[in-house]
Amino acid sequence: MEGSLTVEQRREQIAAAREALAGIDGSLWQVPGGGGGLAGLLGEVDALGSACEAAKVSIVAEAMERGETSDGAAAMTVTQWVRHHAPSTRAGGAGQLVAVAQEFGKPVNAPVVQAVRAGVLAVRSAAVVLAEADRLRPLLVDGAGPPVLAGLIEMAAQHGPRGCRMVRPALLARYGQDGELQTQQDVARRFVSLSQPVEDGTGTAEYRLVLDVEGKAVLEAALGPLSAPRPVQGERDLRACDQRRGEALVELVRRAVAAGESVGTNPKAQLIVTMDWESLTAGVRGAGVTVGGSDTGTVLAPETVRRLACDASVVPVVLGSEGEVLDQGRAVRFFTPAQTRRLWLRDGGCTYPGCSMPPHWTDAHHLVHWADFGPSDLGNAALLCERHHTIVHSRRYAGRVLQGDAGERVEWDRTLGSYDQLLARRAAKEPA
Ligand SMILES: [Zn+2]
Ligand SMILES: [Zn+2]
Repeated sequence: MEGSLTVEQRREQIAAAREALAGIDGSLWQVPGGGGGLAGLLGEVDALGSACEAAKVSIVAEAMERGETSDGAAAMTVTQWVRHHAPSTRAGGAGQLVAVAQEFGKPVNAPVVQAVRAGVLAVRSAAVVLAEADRLRPLLVDGAGPPVLAGLIEMAAQHGPRGCRMVRPALLARYGQDGELQTQQDVARRFVSLSQPVEDGTGTAEYRLVLDVEGKAVLEAALGPLSAPRPVQGERDLRACDQRRGEALVELVRRAVAAGESVGTNPKAQLIVTMDWESLTAGVRGAGVTVGGSDTGTVLAPETVRRLACDASVVPVVLGSEGEVLDQGRAVRFFTPAQTRRLWLRDGGCTYPGCSMPPHWTDAHHLVHWADFGPSDLGNAALLCERHHTIVHSRRYAGRVLQGDAGERVEWDRTLGSYDQLLARRAAKEPA
């Protein structure tokens, strides 16, 4: 029984394990080929490594509890103590070891402790899980702590620290407080940037591009088909993936410029968004939105989806509570090319006060949102550029089409939440 070993016996066995590894190079030739001989051995050695990591955390935690981590020198930090006695951590990892050991005592972290001891979770991943769980905890609804921690552990165990960070939007969508995902994504939007080109004289220019989730989803949906390998007369496309993506991006810009002022007949980059009906109509928390195509992991915040659903660039697939498809995008959701041309003539460009964006750079916004059963009539439409479309949706502005001397024009009520007042007035008029 493991528990009944004395400390002396343990030290002997650890020394024996080291001995077993020490001479391994010389005997590897004896491992039979195929049949997983080498693979099996690698797995066993790896499991031993994990067990060592877990044991180090336990030892550090115990030493911290006893106050034995200074070797009597008052100025020594726990991390320095670890580096001193576990020299392999001088190459990195001492801080994580200490961070994880510190968290081990808290009852709320018991599942993490268990996963580390079972060898399922590496210490490096455990440190990220604990930090991420701390960051998420204040943003969650009551009682969501344990399932979120379990989700983080599972992702980190399977995909390492990166997986743990990637699952964040999905967890926030499912367990976050109202509007939390939206807030995060609105903040992320401020970091969108494209650097000036940096040229190094070799004929190439380097850019740094930072996008938010929505921008990434739009770009990836557009690049997808354009960057696929294209064999020429049966000859394989030997371009590297990054090269194909770079060339596809330039191609996209070229096409957009060439399209000029004509109404595109092709839908814009097609995103397929699946979300449940309640989230779309309520527009609050829990909008588990998945963007289809090659990029299935993206989660978009609810208000973002309502804006996207205004224009033809998104095909919403709305799911019921059982996951059944309720709505494949009401057939009349899009403005037809003929309607769009009349809209271009009527509005002449973005209708937001003071904006001069020409019509071919605008979206057709539904004044009563598509998600709120707004029809695709010209009386319910207004052209908005991307920037003002975002503002109109995020500040929830109402607009209406007015009959003036010079024909119809769109007027915006720029009072925060004027759209919600409009909805309330509509609801009062026609009881559900
Ligand atoms: Zn809109
Ligand atoms: Zn505008």
